[in-house]
Amino acid sequence: MSNDDYIINESYDPQARVDEFQKLEPEFWKRKKLEEMNKDEWEALCDGCGKCCLNKIEIKGKIRFTNAHCRFLDCQSCLCKIYEHRFEVVDDCRDIDLNAVREKPRWLPKTCAYWLLDNGYDLPAWHPLITGKAASVVESGNSLSGRELINETKVDDYENYIVDWQDL
Ligand code: SF4
Ligand code: SF4
Repeated sequence: MSNDDYIINESYDPQARVDEFQKLEPEFWKRKKLEEMNKDEWEALCDGCGKCCLNKIEIKGKIRFTNAHCRFLDCQSCLCKIYEHRFEVVDDCRDIDLNAVREKPRWLPKTCAYWLLDNGYDLPAWHPLITGKAASVVESGNSLSGRELINETKVDDYENYIVDWQDL
């Protein structure tokens, strides 16, 4: 099977995922710690920003983000094209679990809902669990959509692509 066999259907609708949030307990994230959440609740916390799919390098104990994205990121929707198969296909694709959220140095963006909740912050006003809209992440400027990005396959030296975006 080639990598292309995993590509998602072009008609995938991010709003359909957000509509499913209606089935969850209202404001569950205010009553439960991350470790108490069930699978659906955990998945719903992901705002779909795509920022964890940027390549990063560690320099002097600090994670620096680059604007080079994983080759399987759909830069329009900011969704993974191979989500169900990502760990089989991409060696360094990380599962977002508690260990990942708590790892130091921090490598998730500071807007990431998992990191925010685990560090005592609330969800931002633009989060789809608050707005009921998948598009609110893009409209608020918090996703990768519309940013200057480069496919990792075109990168020679990641140090040339370090970015200092405020939300990383
Ligand atoms: S950074 Fe966090 S919220 Fe954004 S896509 Fe990754 S896991 Fe989801
Ligand atoms: S394979 Fe992993 S790093 Fe690449 S786009 Fe998918 S989730 Fe992101």
